[in-house]
Amino acid sequence: MLPFNDYGNAMRQRLGGRVQKLAIDAALSCPNRDGTIAHGGCTFCLNEAFSPSYCREAHTITEQIDQGIAFHTSRGRTADHYIAYFQSGTNTHAPIDTLRKLYFEAINHPKISGIIIGTRPDCISSEILDLLADIATRKYVAVEYGIESTLDTTLHHVNRGHSFADAELAVAETRRRNIDVGAHFILGLPGESREHLVEQTEAINSLGLSFIKFHQLQIYRSTAMAKEWTLHPERFALNNITTEEYALLIIDIIRHLDPTIAIERFASQAPRNLLLHSPLGGVRIDTLRSMIISKMSALNATQGDLCSLSGR
Ligand code: SF4
Repeated sequence: MLPFNDYGNAMRQRLGGRVQKLAIDAALSCPNRDGTIAHGGCTFCLNEAFSPSYCREAHTITEQIDQGIAFHTSRGRTADHYIAYFQSGTNTHAPIDTLRKLYFEAINHPKISGIIIGTRPDCISSEILDLLADIATRKYVAVEYGIESTLDTTLHHVNRGHSFADAELAVAETRRRNIDVGAHFILGLPGESREHLVEQTEAINSLGLSFIKFHQLQIYRSTAMAKEWTLHPERFALNNITTEEYALLIIDIIRHLDPTIAIERFASQAPRNLLLHSPLGGVRIDTLRSMIISKMSALNATQGDLCSLSGR
């Protein structure tokens, strides 16, 4: 038995079988780039780093789903359930009729069991949530918010354009409609210490998330953060962290994390040619996961065993 609440297992139980997510690029822009909120985007963002090749080559949602299934099947990854994961950009940043058409094209595909909508906490509305709640009466639906940090000073520094209070409100409104809510957080943003990354788990617990992703901060070439990283490396607390130290940090976070939150990721990998620096170098995600599991077993540690659950 795993010492943490594993997302893959949670989804298998939820949907009854093996689940494979298919990344979808709906070609929606980002309000933090197109001037709706700001120009320039988040200082760490290189959007192309998040799109698999089958998204870039295809056009319609249906084509991307078909090509995604073929892509995973050719690598021996078959599934009982496929979920269309609207991943790139901000997938609620369009008129409601456009969104309805996109989401319904996905759920009407015969092999699709549900959708996950990646977006920002300040780019959601009652109208969109009501549409998603309606879809949730037919297929699985989750919304995944990029929250990244619980500190407003950090969010401002990296030009996120939203506050942590925006995230609290978005998650609460989504949960109120019985829609699963996930979030991702970046570990190692400038000015954030290792201690803060563990302490913020209490604020994360108070949100009431269904699932969570943690990513180590990766510095992509040609971003504003690449410039900051070059000029002020001292601002990046995880700059020189070893894989073992990172595993211990993640374990500390897991032990403070509400055990009902399923963990989807501990770290991410990006194409090396896009990266200026990644604190974990070329370590494989499955190697890191094995390290975390074996160290937690040795410590007799489990998810939430140091969690106060205050605020729930
Ligand atoms: S990280 Fe998301 S919100 Fe920020 S600029 Fe990139 S696409 Fe936009």
